[in-house]
Amino acid sequence: MASVRLHPRTIESVKERVDIVDVVGEHVVLKKKGKEYVGICPFHDDSKPSMSVIPGKQFYYCFSCGAGGNAIKFLMEFQRQSFSDVVLELAKKYQVPVDTVEGPQQERIKQQISRRDNLYRVLKIATGWFRNQLNSKCGENALHYLKNKRHLSDGTLINFELGYAPDNWDSLLRYFVDIEKINVDILESAGLVVPRKGGNGFYDRFRNRIIVPIHDRQKRVIGFGGRSLDGSEPKYLNSPETEIFEKGKNLFGLDKSATSIRKKDYAVVVEGYFDVMALHDSDITNVVASLGTALSRNQITLLSRSTDSKKILLNFDSDNAGIRAANRAISEVENLAIQGQLDLRVLQLPANKDPDEFLRDNSPSEYEALATKAPLWMDWQIDQSLKDLDLSKSDQFQAAVSDLVSLLGKLPQTAIRTHYLQKVAQRLSGGQGRFALQLEEDLRNQISGQRWHGRSKKYEKPREVSHRERSEAEILFIYIHCPNIRSFIRNELRLRDLDDFAINHHRAIWSTISNIEEKQFGFDTVEEINRGGDTSNILAGVDLIKNLLDNFMESNNEYLSKLTPLLEANELRDATLSEPESEIRGALAVLEKQRSLKRCRHLIEAWSSQRLQTLENCIASLIVQESSDPTNSSDMEEQVIKMFEDLNNDAINFQELYYADRKHILHLDQQRCFK
Ligand SMILES: [Zn+2]
Repeated sequence: MASVRLHPRTIESVKERVDIVDVVGEHVVLKKKGKEYVGICPFHDDSKPSMSVIPGKQFYYCFSCGAGGNAIKFLMEFQRQSFSDVVLELAKKYQVPVDTVEGPQQERIKQQISRRDNLYRVLKIATGWFRNQLNSKCGENALHYLKNKRHLSDGTLINFELGYAPDNWDSLLRYFVDIEKINVDILESAGLVVPRKGGNGFYDRFRNRIIVPIHDRQKRVIGFGGRSLDGSEPKYLNSPETEIFEKGKNLFGLDKSATSIRKKDYAVVVEGYFDVMALHDSDITNVVASLGTALSRNQITLLSRSTDSKKILLNFDSDNAGIRAANRAISEVENLAIQGQLDLRVLQLPANKDPDEFLRDNSPSEYEALATKAPLWMDWQIDQSLKDLDLSKSDQFQAAVSDLVSLLGKLPQTAIRTHYLQKVAQRLSGGQGRFALQLEEDLRNQISGQRWHGRSKKYEKPREVSHRERSEAEILFIYIHCPNIRSFIRNELRLRDLDDFAINHHRAIWSTISNIEEKQFGFDTVEEINRGGDTSNILAGVDLIKNLLDNFMESNNEYLSKLTPLLEANELRDATLSEPESEIRGALAVLEKQRSLKRCRHLIEAWSSQRLQTLENCIASLIVQESSDPTNSSDMEEQVIKMFEDLNNDAINFQELYYADRKHILHLDQQRCFK
């Protein structure tokens, strides 16, 4: 890439947008430790995590080799790229507009800057003017509304610089043009006036509305929200996007809440400006709202940078629109939440109240108590899919199941998925144990059908078969010879979704073991142990060596010759018994990694075959169209574009699934190294 001279503004916005934890976390697995993150340093031959990443300072440092710096420095060293290449790449990634500095461009950039300064100045003057209107005779109704209907205190009115736009077509316009001598062009660019339909003159955008100024993080006014007072539509009218007002990149209230968010270590997102103000009025100040648009991934990332725990609570209205908004916000950042990079929760207030209504009848501490109990996004979405359904009706039951299958199918991590599978099966079964188990199995199979599960041999490499054989044998050997950790092993197998052994004779041995234990303690107890329930280590008392041998001899089992080596301890294997728990973890990590690798291969193949198919379809439709109607090609073009759009969406899905698995593999590798 030819070196470009980037404009300082581009460099600044990139620095402001990147998150060191995001950047380093993409290449190094980071574990949270207090307010910092630690990971294996990629710049020296690191054996234990020596690198610290400090989000509060946007800085990383290695205690072993001394590497350190900000996110840009990290990428320069890690990818061996120049400063401007890294900044350019980050700018693309975070959608920061790129400006370069070159001779003739410099003049234009200077002009832009003075234009932006002008816009800030005009909006500041307008804020003061709106405030004056609120406190004058014409603002009486508005003030009454704010104090008596909204119950806002004087402190909040001042803090949020609330104002009023009079019920006239040109009050603001006249004031700016006649008194402030400001050009109408700049008023239009600032979104304060609108050209008349006939092209003859301008009129005020905001009329008879409460004016809520919107600030950026530097506390400058960048736009306004206007709430109508006479019931005219729209209820909320916002400034249009301007050079300085980008709705998807700012949040209402963040200028006032950033400190409190950092202190409480979580942020609340509400739907409306008045919710933010009502909460501030009750001294709950870690609150923001989006700017009349759906909450975007950008906004959530921006917000999460103020909290170390990355805990974000969506407190939207409980009506359909609010639920849709919450679901949409979740889908924006689902992947971050699944990977544990965001602690995303949904707070729904009782009796379908919005925060403003709730705080009229309840105390702030009641609100905060509910906030601390807010469920994780996945739990909330499960609740939503089951809400209002009569599960005794088969069509509603089916609908719930198919909803839940697609919901749980998003979870790549088997431990989390298993957790939710059990939870969902419990709820669907109405608490009937046997039925729950069967449902769980059904759901598991359906999800596997939807998502590749990895049981097929197609994507396996020969070397992996022997690895698997060894790891499975090791697990069985330890299970038989270390009675005290049997419960632990059962639980680990279940958590990682590995409790069906892949090698035939191992599967036979495992199912015999399960039969022996179930005969003695009952099916439900063993199942309880699988789930990590406390059953005072009863499995330790079973003489598996004797029982297994008896069972295999009696039934003349074809795998007897495979069983006997597992029953005899030998010197080599005795060595593995000194630390059985870490041996088990190592063996499980090998099995999990294999499954992930297989899934990656599957994904790549599935993706390339789909790509081929799309190409084929495109060519086919080209030929058909051309032969039927050679003159009209626009329809066909649209079709082809549509196909490629679909293909691109699929590509992103594949990439995400693939990425999740590769990341999991890295994590497993580290687990093995630490064992
Ligand atoms: Zn280092």
